[in-house]
Amino acid sequence: LPSKLPAGKTSIFSVMSGLARKHDAIDLSQGFPNFETDNHLKELVCKAMKEGYNQYPPMNGIPELREQIVSKIENLYGKKYDEASEIIFTAGATQALYCAINAFVHPGDEVIVFKPAYDSYEPDIKLAGGKPVLIELKGRDFKIDWEEVEEKITSKTRMIVINTPHNPTGTVLSKSDMQRLEKLLKNTNIILLSDEVYEHLIFDKEEHQSASKFPGLAERAIVCASFGKTFHNTGWKMGYCVAPEVLMKEIIKFHQATVFCVNHPMQRAFAEYLKNPDHYLSLGDFYQQKRDKFLELMEGSKFKGTPSKGTYFQVMDYSEITDEHDVDFAKRLITKHGLASIPVSVFHKDGKDHKQLRFCFAKNDETLEKATEILHKL
Ligand code: PMP
Ligand code: GLN
Repeated sequence: LPSKLPAGKTSIFSVMSGLARKHDAIDLSQGFPNFETDNHLKELVCKAMKEGYNQYPPMNGIPELREQIVSKIENLYGKKYDEASEIIFTAGATQALYCAINAFVHPGDEVIVFKPAYDSYEPDIKLAGGKPVLIELKGRDFKIDWEEVEEKITSKTRMIVINTPHNPTGTVLSKSDMQRLEKLLKNTNIILLSDEVYEHLIFDKEEHQSASKFPGLAERAIVCASFGKTFHNTGWKMGYCVAPEVLMKEIIKFHQATVFCVNHPMQRAFAEYLKNPDHYLSLGDFYQQKRDKFLELMEGSKFKGTPSKGTYFQVMDYSEITDEHDVDFAKRLITKHGLASIPVSVFHKDGKDHKQLRFCFAKNDETLEKATEILHKL
């Protein structure tokens, strides 16, 4: 049978995590914390289960959680979404991205994606029959060249995908980037898909520039978020997206057809837990300390990198150590040295190798110490 996704292969995250398990390696590859989600949050899930919230919740989510998220967004970014018609909860941000892309991309439509990029955008676009138009981020700071974006916009451009803070590079979009994009999209009907799963993992007093903060963007944006990144529970696969009602109406058709609704007791738990903003408001400082610890431990090694400004990833150049392809080097690091990372080439256009590895620093200090001991010996 002809494949609908001929270029699709097992994700690098499964490959590297699988190899890490097989070789009992320290795992700084796939992005997840090795510390626990808050006990209180777990207890709230159990409580909801015991209280009988074990059947389907409403398709678009329980009203209490919709209300919490809508007011959180209003407090942080100043945009008031309608809680009845402009938000849905999804099976992780991954499903929100899938629904958003499939709801609007028609065969032959072009979708601008900045490279390196997270690996689910392009397969989603191709499954919808669309054409990814890839634009490389420029320089050591991985900047967007807005003139190039302007040149690449055509009458077929249906959507632009942005991701801030950015996986894998750890860069963030600035206010002036967002204003430039706002200007560029004015008087077009291009949809903006804004992947903001790391919105709270932002360092050095940077402010997260959510698309929802900019009226000219918010009116055309689908903003995707993930509870997994914010609450240290990536395995719960809970996320959401917000968008103006005209867009959400279409996204909901895909949400209904793919999962219809998501985990009821967890929605109850988050609705209660989110009444206190302390956790997410302190998350930037928490992860900044992890980043600083990791970079301090790496000092004097042959790995070099610009400090990450957001996410829980640090990209490092290893060209002083070897000129091996990054996939080979990453595999050798697991099998011979017991340490797993992600080769950055998998995020790049045509898999171009830049001799860089991505390390996830969402780990306890002991793990970071053991990992960096290994890296120092290379
Ligand atoms: N977007 C980006 C940039 C990510 O790094 C991830 C998490 N790996 C996702 C989306 C998906 O998030 P979730 O696990 O909530 O599906
Ligand atoms: N977002 C995570 C990462 O970049 C992994 C998600 C996944 O495994 N698909 O490591």
